[in-house]
Amino acid sequence: MADFYTILGIDKNTPLKDIKKRYRELARKHHPDTNQGSKEAEDRFKVISEAYDVLTNKKKRLEYDQKQAHKRRAENRGPRRSSWAHSDGDFDFSGGRSSGFGGQGPRDDFRQATEEQAYDPSMPTRGFDLQFMVDVPIDIVAIGGQMPYAYEKYVTCRTCDGSGGLGEGECPRCRGTRQEVRPVSIDITIPPGVADQYTLRIPGEGGEGKNGGPPGDLLLKVVTRPHPLFRRVRNDIHTEVRISPQFAEQGGPLDVKTLDSVKTIQVEEGTLTGEEQRIPGEGAAILWGKKRGDLVVKFHIDEE
Ligand SMILES: [Zn+2]
Repeated sequence: MADFYTILGIDKNTPLKDIKKRYRELARKHHPDTNQGSKEAEDRFKVISEAYDVLTNKKKRLEYDQKQAHKRRAENRGPRRSSWAHSDGDFDFSGGRSSGFGGQGPRDDFRQATEEQAYDPSMPTRGFDLQFMVDVPIDIVAIGGQMPYAYEKYVTCRTCDGSGGLGEGECPRCRGTRQEVRPVSIDITIPPGVADQYTLRIPGEGGEGKNGGPPGDLLLKVVTRPHPLFRRVRNDIHTEVRISPQFAEQGGPLDVKTLDSVKTIQVEEGTLTGEEQRIPGEGAAILWGKKRGDLVVKFHIDEE
């Protein structure tokens, strides 16, 4: 959301009488009485009134300015205070700065405005980096694969085409911020055998830049979704199968579900509960390669 100065179209040095004048103009334009039934005008009017209320009150304005400066400092210098957002649409607006992990420092190109600099809204600005956690099924984590991923990000406002204005006034959709939030979906590629909690950086899929600035990146922390049959231990996948006492006694061929197929193993006669058998090459990929660990099959003999 745009800051109160932008909303009123003023700056820090605008004299009080001009703020009042500006407010009256805007209030007249967006007053619910002159925009019958327009929810947008009603919301807009509320925001304008709030901005006016805060910026014309010395104490409130000081508090507001301090809060904004604090927010910008946090965005520009880290450390990152946000915890990981889950992928259900909650997202991080932290200004496209360093990611706070993976050792990447702040980028020097397309610096965002800080409170020491006058903010120029037409300056090319890099888009936001976005970070989410993504639940990935164990088979995809273990052997790699693609999956669709849906999230929301800032993109150029369609109504004003990123100019922030419309005709004489401010763009009603983005309120002069030049961007709007839009849901997007992409196919993500999980490399084979990534560690749990591994962070994928997908360049350019973060928020779009402003005024020709480059887009931010999308950072996804891979979290393995628990599976009823499989558990990963480094490069091996563990599974448990239940067999009858008769079958355990006699032994014989047994079909076992693997991550990506079914394999027939030979159960030895006299097998006991807790005994294990390895199926080589049916585990997780090793070091992002084609070689794979084992599937460790543990037998559980059902009581009669
Ligand atoms: Zn717009």
